[in-house]
Amino acid sequence: MTIALFTLGGTISMAGDSPGAGVVSRLTGEQLTAAVPGLADLAEPLEIHDVQAAPSASLSFATVLDVVAAASRAVTGGATGVVLTQGTDSMEETAWLVDLVWPHPEPFVVTGAMRNPTLAGPDGPANLLAAVQVAASPEARELGALVVFAEEVHAARWVRKQHSTSTGTFGSPNLGPMGQVVEGVPRILARPSRHAPLPQPAVERWEATRVALHTVVLDDDGLLLERVADTHQGLVVAAFGVGHVPAWLAEPLGELARVMPVVLTSRTGSGSVLEQTYGGPGSEIDLLGRGLLNGGMLDPYKARILLRLLLASGADRERITEELALRG
Ligand code: ASP
Repeated sequence: MTIALFTLGGTISMAGDSPGAGVVSRLTGEQLTAAVPGLADLAEPLEIHDVQAAPSASLSFATVLDVVAAASRAVTGGATGVVLTQGTDSMEETAWLVDLVWPHPEPFVVTGAMRNPTLAGPDGPANLLAAVQVAASPEARELGALVVFAEEVHAARWVRKQHSTSTGTFGSPNLGPMGQVVEGVPRILARPSRHAPLPQPAVERWEATRVALHTVVLDDDGLLLERVADTHQGLVVAAFGVGHVPAWLAEPLGELARVMPVVLTSRTGSGSVLEQTYGGPGSEIDLLGRGLLNGGMLDPYKARILLRLLLASGADRERITEELALRG
């Protein structure tokens, strides 16, 4: 039995080239694992796949789905679980993308670091060890994609990066961590329900499917929305509070909702958009009545990934509405 380890770069793998030039991703999986006391003592050996050494802002859907395909082959070939190391910046999105399509009971654990290996007290080694411990644990089966960080286990569905520098940056504001790693032993305290995996569209479909994200702001003139239907196939609106926009944007958004799926989410970072509380132009009742789709508790970033995946798979409006109701 093995654990398949995939590396995609990020702070966990960064090192300096020359003084003053900053750190860049370049350490291999072999180098990462060599820096982790205790890793060699685990029962399952690691099978290392170095995929890319990039900052996570530069990752693409195609790269993540390639890793999912390679990880699928690894578990079909007998791996007990999967660990992916990458940058933290886009981790809440990549973990959710993996979660939506991962079809196996074996855990797919994503981790990284906030303090790079050149600093005092880098957190990468501890995070990597905890991630491998979770990936090897029977407790973590059937939970889909997880983010393991600072000895906490987070469901991909809920996890958010909440601080730009703290080693405790990951939180799940709607739920809290679903588990902890205690003295090296994963303890799963809550098991959120898991939905059927979605089909993975071909790369060409991804590339041809654009979903825009518009964050509504005070005195928003909506100019950015004017041409969006010419270039994109879907739109996510990160609205105020429970799903509100300025009154003057209600009509243009309703017009867009007639030609493409427009998903209503909250920009607040936690909680749900509402359905039936506030009335009047720009309220959630008004917008949903104009055909916007209810994103529920999905944050705007996760809603955008789900919508792009569904559109790239050819889902129609009815199917998108059903999936949002199920996963939102
Ligand atoms: N900028 C880095 C990245 O996401 C941050 C990190 O890894 O924590 O690649």
